[in-house]
Amino acid sequence: MIYTCNNCGGNMVYSPERQKMFCKYCGSEDSEQKYVSNEPVMSACPSCGAPIEIREYLSAFKCPYCDNHLIVDERIAGDYLPHLIIPFYLGIEDVKKILRDKFKRSVFAPNDFLSDARLNFMTGMYVPFWMYDYHVHGFYEGTGKKIRTWTSGNRQYTETKIYRIKRDMEVDFDKVPVDASIIMPDSTMDLMEPFHYGNLEEFKDCYLSGFQAEMYNMGVDELEERAVCKAKGDAESIMQSSINGYTGLVNDPSNKVMVERTDSKYALLPVWNYQYVYKNQTYPFYINGQTGKVVGKVPLSVKKVWAYGGTLCMGLLLVFTMIYQIFRWL
Ligand SMILES: [Zn+2]
Ligand SMILES: [Zn+2]
Repeated sequence: MIYTCNNCGGNMVYSPERQKMFCKYCGSEDSEQKYVSNEPVMSACPSCGAPIEIREYLSAFKCPYCDNHLIVDERIAGDYLPHLIIPFYLGIEDVKKILRDKFKRSVFAPNDFLSDARLNFMTGMYVPFWMYDYHVHGFYEGTGKKIRTWTSGNRQYTETKIYRIKRDMEVDFDKVPVDASIIMPDSTMDLMEPFHYGNLEEFKDCYLSGFQAEMYNMGVDELEERAVCKAKGDAESIMQSSINGYTGLVNDPSNKVMVERTDSKYALLPVWNYQYVYKNQTYPFYINGQTGKVVGKVPLSVKKVWAYGGTLCMGLLLVFTMIYQIFRWL
């Protein structure tokens, strides 16, 4: 599938800045036309005709021959049709600004780290996520103490109250997200949260034009353990926060948290990816394409650290020499 411009025939993409479909060739907005191929499996570019081998799981990408943005019909159909999507809210220029603001004080970063030449290679990716709804029922029983001490005259008193604590909690979690992409590191994708669900929309394929996208690599049941862990962890913290202020807490062994899945949805969420290569090592940065939250570690330029160290040494040497001169003078 490819989106073309009704006006000039150029490739039409979704522009986060305009929140509209946009043609960079003639500047027209929302004048898109969808071309869907009859082929059951995409093997050639519908725009330039070049034969293409599409990386596993990729459902939207840029043709390496004509640079047009293509969408792989069969990878967003049937079981792979996403239910929901958060469209990109931040475009590449917004993300460049966010990175420059965030890292402007990183004086030891290599010179080209925030250069246009490097940042222009950033990719906007729709990452596949499963979202789970849970009904959680938690029971808690235990004993705890509250101790009060005070002095009256020359006597010290201690009062120990022992409490039997009982909690019975029911809580519903809506759309607990877990990424379903093998190449995306799980812990980093967890750090991309929170996404604001106010912008979650019913899936429309035009949002993929201009970006990369993946179909889910793992099924809803396969990934569920991670979602259950998140829901249980959150439920336990809620429960714990209601049992504050006791000492010597003894929990009953019968306590439990039961998690029941009530629904699940397949969603695509927007993430920018900047792969900065420095001295044969890749430093990956991930930026939430909706909120601008950045995850990544800046490399240190050895040259800059040495230059700074050198300046510092020279400074100290000068001070010492001056002191020495003063002492000699005396
Ligand atoms: Zn056009
Ligand atoms: Zn092409």
